[in-house]
Amino acid sequence: MSADAFLQEWTRITTELTQVVETALDVEPPGECPEAWARWLTRFEVPRLDEERRSEEVREAKQTKGAPLREVQGCLESLAREASARLAPLRKTLSAEQAALVERSLHTFASTAFEHYKTKATEKKKKMFGAAKALANQHQYGGFGASTGYVLTCVTCRAPRLGESLTCAFCGGELAGVS
Ligand SMILES: [Zn+2]
Repeated sequence: MSADAFLQEWTRITTELTQVVETALDVEPPGECPEAWARWLTRFEVPRLDEERRSEEVREAKQTKGAPLREVQGCLESLAREASARLAPLRKTLSAEQAALVERSLHTFASTAFEHYKTKATEKKKKMFGAAKALANQHQYGGFGASTGYVLTCVTCRAPRLGESLTCAFCGGELAGVS
């Protein structure tokens, strides 16, 4: 049996991971709770902090934008648990090497994305306007490529990969020079 079902599920998960981080980073001013973010909290059953806690936490974390760190972490951990459960039955379609790679990726999944979020959410704002700002946003978060910022994936088949590996354990494609 091929790893197709696994790859499909993995892609779904990394796509959702990207969306969670992007929606959280879109929250401005920091600590607000727009509808788009509230939906993720509901989706992952993460309790929403009350108004006072929200503003306190974003101030303490020195966030320049974004949802409170604690809420984001809650969502990411919940997604990682869910991913692990959803992928479990598909692992028997994988080789030992592939399964080990998945194990490692799932292990660092939530923490890597969270570190990325923390960096972005506390970044000092650059003064950018109009077209320049739209372009910068597009480059940072536009399209599917953004997920490579949180989870390393093969550009060819979207499978999980490790930074040090040179060929993809799933499709055999070259990984050198791809970040
Ligand atoms: Zn691949």
